[in-house]
Amino acid sequence: MNIYVLSRNARLYSTRRIVEAGRERGHTVRVIDPLRCYVKISAHRPEVHLKGEILPAPDAVIPRIGASVTFYGTAVLRQFEMMGVFPLNESVAISRSRDKLRSLQLLARRGIGLPVSSFAYSPDDNADLISIVGGAPLVLKLLEGTQGKGVVLAETNKAAESVIDAFHGLNAYFLAQEFIKEANGADIRCFVVGEKVIASMMRQAKEGEFRSNVHRGGSAKPIRITPEERSVATRAARIMGLNVAGVDIMRSAHGPVVLEVNSSPGLEGIEGATGKDIAGSMIQFIEKFGKAGRTKTRGK
Ligand code: ADP
Ligand code: GLU
Repeated sequence: MNIYVLSRNARLYSTRRIVEAGRERGHTVRVIDPLRCYVKISAHRPEVHLKGEILPAPDAVIPRIGASVTFYGTAVLRQFEMMGVFPLNESVAISRSRDKLRSLQLLARRGIGLPVSSFAYSPDDNADLISIVGGAPLVLKLLEGTQGKGVVLAETNKAAESVIDAFHGLNAYFLAQEFIKEANGADIRCFVVGEKVIASMMRQAKEGEFRSNVHRGGSAKPIRITPEERSVATRAARIMGLNVAGVDIMRSAHGPVVLEVNSSPGLEGIEGATGKDIAGSMIQFIEKFGKAGRTKTRGK
């Protein structure tokens, strides 16, 4: 098969592994920088151009679009979808998953356990916003944050109000959320491909930190998850419409709660912790389902 990997940097671990896994399995794999692509939008023959070349339609495209380039990256991906190319994750699903508030609403609507969350526009409602999630300690999250940036633990209602005031001052949207204290700084990354969790790891925050992100010094080890957690993770990915997803779950007193569903989950941490060939599983999924013209959305 001919496969494009939409990635800004061919040297990134995840990109390298996907290319390697594809070539090992006999495919032609090319890394394409989505920001260097430009498109011709026309009714009959949509095209993607790169440095003067009209790119031939591959059989499949693997989007690895960073959060900061979601708008342009998904537009390029959509153009490939218009050409009938199979996307490992669809552009609409990626856009959906990048909107944290919308994601939580979609998951809640389908009965997925979540930390109790609140959201408001007006600073006049701060006190109510805090009490809806049960008061301090509580977590405040910028909607635009990634890798744990903009995620704050407020130990008192006073502290929460100050942080909320600061966010308002920055004109930034944020969520207030119940603090899942009983998880003790641990969360579980479930790596979903298709209808299955193919690998899972527990990430533990370092001493004195509640965020378990590896970028924040968290450590990872493989973990056996419960059937309930397995089901929550695969359902969450399906609700978002993602074939490949990193579903982050915490073990709360009211059962597993989903923190977030990532549409470009990193491979380094999970392959390192579990020793599994995750990139190979992604390629296998494409071999099974990536027939040209099988795009469900055609870029809608
Ligand atoms: P990001 O997308 O920036 O990683 P997350 O929402 O995943 O943001 O939060 C980062 C980390 O903070 C999580 O991995 C988790 O360890 C911790 N965390 C997030 N929300 C909560 C919460 N409601 N209760 C306890 N810990 C949380
Ligand atoms: N690669 C990061 C992760 O898996 C973020 C992915 C994304 O922003 O979708 O945690």
